[in-house]
Amino acid sequence: MEKATDVFVIGGGPAGLAAAIAARQRGLSVVVADGSRPPIDKPCGEGLMPDGRAALAELGISVPEELSRPFRGISFVSGGLRAEANFPNGCGIGVRRKVLHRLMVERAEAAGITLLWSTPVKGLYSDGVLLGKELVRSRWVVGADGGHSLVRLALTATAATARALPFAATTASLPGPIAWNCIGARSARSM
Ligand SMILES: Cc1cc2nc3c(=O)[nH]c(=O)nc-3n(C[C@H](O)[C@H](O)[C@H](O)COP(=O)(O)OP(=O)(O)OC[C@H]3O[C@@H](n4cnc5c(N)ncnc54)[C@H](O)[C@@H]3O)c2cc1C
Repeated sequence: MEKATDVFVIGGGPAGLAAAIAARQRGLSVVVADGSRPPIDKPCGEGLMPDGRAALAELGISVPEELSRPFRGISFVSGGLRAEANFPNGCGIGVRRKVLHRLMVERAEAAGITLLWSTPVKGLYSDGVLLGKELVRSRWVVGADGGHSLVRLALTATAATARALPFAATTASLPGPIAWNCIGARSARSM
C-alpha cells in the first residue's frame, strides 16, 4: 500500500466509513484502518432515523427494502407512561448493524478507499499514523475510533498524563510542536 495518503481514518465503524466516503467523494485519497474485521457488530438498537437515511443517500448508500423494516416514529414507554411522535418527514428504518456495515464497506471499496482490517493504529505523529513499525504519512487524520477514542484522549491529554497513553506516547517523544489535522465526519463534509 501507499505510505502516504490525503486522509487517514482510524476506525472503520459507521462514523469512520462515512467520513472516508465523504472525503473520497471530494477527490481525496483515503485509507481506513480498523483493529477488527468485518462483519463488525456491537450492541445497537439498529434504528436509522430519516436524517441518517438521507446522509447515507448522500454517500451513495441505499439499504434494500428486503433488508430493512420502516418505522414512522418513536415511542418512549416507562411503566404506565408513554410519549410518542411520528417523524415530520419520511420514515426511519430498522436494519441489522452487520448489514449496514457491509453496505458501507462495499461502497467504500467501490469508491477506491484502501481498507485495512485487523490493523490497529499504534500511534500518532504530527505528519501521520503508526501502523506496526511503519509511519503512513497523512495530511488529515480522522479519529473515528469509537466511544473510548484513544485519538481524542491523545489530543486532549495534558503533558503530565500524555506519556501514560499509548497513542500520546509516540507524539510526546517527538521534538518540536505537534500540529494536528484532526477532523470528524462532519468536518469531512466541508472539505
Ligand atoms: C445499546 C446501544 C444501542 C444503540 N442504538 C442505536 C440505534 O438504534 N441507532 C443508532 O444510530 N445508533 C445507536 N447506537 C449508537 C451507535 O452504536 C454508535 O453511535 C455508533 O456505533 C458509533 O459509530 P462509530 O463509528 O463512531 O464507533 P464504533 O462503531 O464504535 O467504531 C469504532 C471502530 O474503531 C475501531 N478502533 C478502535 N480503536 C482503534 C485503533 N487504535 N486502531 C484501529 N481501529 C480502532 C474499532 O474496532 C471499531 O470498529 C447505540 C449504541 C448502544 C450502545
